[in-house]
Amino acid sequence: MSDLRELYQEVILDHHKKPRNFRRLEGDVRRVEGYNPLCGDRFTVYLQMEGDIVKDVAFEGSGCAISTASASMMTESVKGKTRAEAEDMFQKFHALLTSPQIDTTGLGKLAVFAGVREFPVRVKCATLAWHTLHSALQGKEETVSTE
Ligand code: ZN
Repeated sequence: MSDLRELYQEVILDHHKKPRNFRRLEGDVRRVEGYNPLCGDRFTVYLQMEGDIVKDVAFEGSGCAISTASASMMTESVKGKTRAEAEDMFQKFHALLTSPQIDTTGLGKLAVFAGVREFPVRVKCATLAWHTLHSALQGKEETVSTE
């Protein structure tokens, strides 16, 4: 468990300092805002679909280390995936953070977020970008709030 904790801290710090796909997408993109009032995390997720494929995904905004790292890793994880695969990953990631027994197959590096279960108030930080992505995949436009 201490190895996982170390890896968790390492990965989160890395993605917090250098968030991947931290930019605005222009043109024919879906744009959904996500807000976590508990912590003050606020992001805009941009999603560009090509047919059924996530052609590009990016985010902007500001939040704590965990929400930023999670958003960064979310964009890396779902880019190039089909809509169904991205939705499946959202469900698995959500389960990872909320249930003690979960098969992490297919989650890759995202599995380190299991460490967030030790900090229940941070679960909403970690899932914010994913809930926002979920809305964008469904074509919804309204702001996602974790409350
Ligand atoms: Zn937060």
